[in-house]
Amino acid sequence: MKRDTVMTVPLIKEVEEEVTSLLSELIQIDTTNPPGNETKAAKYLAENLGKDGFECEIFESAPQRGSVITRLKGTGEKPSLLLLSHLDVVAANPAEWSVDPFGGVVKDGFVWGRGTLDMKGMTAIEAMALKLLKRNNVKLKGDVILAATADEEMGGSSGADYLLQNYPEKIFAPYVLNEGGGWAIPARNKNVYTVQTAEKGLLWFKVKAKGIPGHGSMPDAADNAIMRMHKVIEKLGNYRGPASYVPTVKQFLVEMAKEDESLQEPVSRLLANPESSDAVLDELAKTMPAIADEIRPRIRMTITPTIIHGGVKENIIPSECEAVFDCRVLPEQTIGQAQALIRQMLAEVGLDKLSVETIQAQEPSASPVETPLYRVISSVLWDFEPGCGVAPLLMTGGTDSRFFRRMGSVCYGFHPMKSETLYGVKVTRREHGIDERISVENLVFGASVLYETIKRFMA
Ligand SMILES: [Zn+2]
Repeated sequence: MKRDTVMTVPLIKEVEEEVTSLLSELIQIDTTNPPGNETKAAKYLAENLGKDGFECEIFESAPQRGSVITRLKGTGEKPSLLLLSHLDVVAANPAEWSVDPFGGVVKDGFVWGRGTLDMKGMTAIEAMALKLLKRNNVKLKGDVILAATADEEMGGSSGADYLLQNYPEKIFAPYVLNEGGGWAIPARNKNVYTVQTAEKGLLWFKVKAKGIPGHGSMPDAADNAIMRMHKVIEKLGNYRGPASYVPTVKQFLVEMAKEDESLQEPVSRLLANPESSDAVLDELAKTMPAIADEIRPRIRMTITPTIIHGGVKENIIPSECEAVFDCRVLPEQTIGQAQALIRQMLAEVGLDKLSVETIQAQEPSASPVETPLYRVISSVLWDFEPGCGVAPLLMTGGTDSRFFRRMGSVCYGFHPMKSETLYGVKVTRREHGIDERISVENLVFGASVLYETIKRFMA
């Protein structure tokens, strides 16, 4: 793909009001999960799409846990494309916010509220793009499906996973666009747009340490479970496995270095000698701490203690202590390998008085970068922003894309967004954060880029 053949595509400014009010109204339907109660939002979206003649179906995995699906038919010459999003959001504490998190407030050029970024904003631009395809009678060689689902924030078993298990004929598509990437990272020369092509796997587990209780005044006569757990936490929490650069991360670093020459030297040292990564990153952190922090969790398995419970009274040496750990594995690793490694480290502490229990496990997932859809995304971005960078992204967290990748779909996290400023201050991404918001400008940009991407991919 040549970057110098520039054909600038105009933004579809006419949709500004429509996509803004669509998002604002979605925000006003509180879908905090738990409990979710997504059906109301699913019905709202079905009604909204219905005005353009879309026939929508709502599927409930349980009462009020609804997801909505609709389809725009193509000729069948090309594989279908699913526009995926989730309707549920995480909790928001109104006392911490400067606006009502469920008010759908539009001010200062932004739509404010829980879910504007994660991810009703993408639901809105996907619905807008679908309406435009229909209104403009765009000839599609493949079906375009839209699914806005329940339960992503609690693991997706009552949403995307449920639909794939029970209604694959409705929701499955060989290509999927979802959350998890698409925003621009401002590099020194140009913006670099991200496309999420891979996700780390997740292993949440609990370790229980046993001991022998005793009086707090006589420590040597007892066996303190807290002290045993202390060794476990020191062992697991300080684990630093060998650094490894999976293809997504390698390509991400190369693309970033292209747009920022100060990264060229550190990146070539990282890739040439993975084993000296920590020293290179420590050095990089002195001048570019944010980039160094972004790279670190993407080059190895991580194990982080997140919860600890132990002890009942000031003067009782506890016989039990338990801790929860959040382990994330790279796309080339497996949960089984992580479990074996953890057992091995615990054995070094002494397995006899320790037990391990898995809370939740999800294998990592990845899609190839060399696909027709990735090429279309790149070419569309270059037309909207000539010369911008495009880089694949490994996400440290997880999304519903993993269910589709497991079924063989090519899934990309692509919610197109320019980096934002408000009163000259950079708005850092605020998924799950206080005063979560998205600019109206980015809604127009997102809808325009998505529309053009689907149009070209299905041409
Ligand atoms: Zn999300």
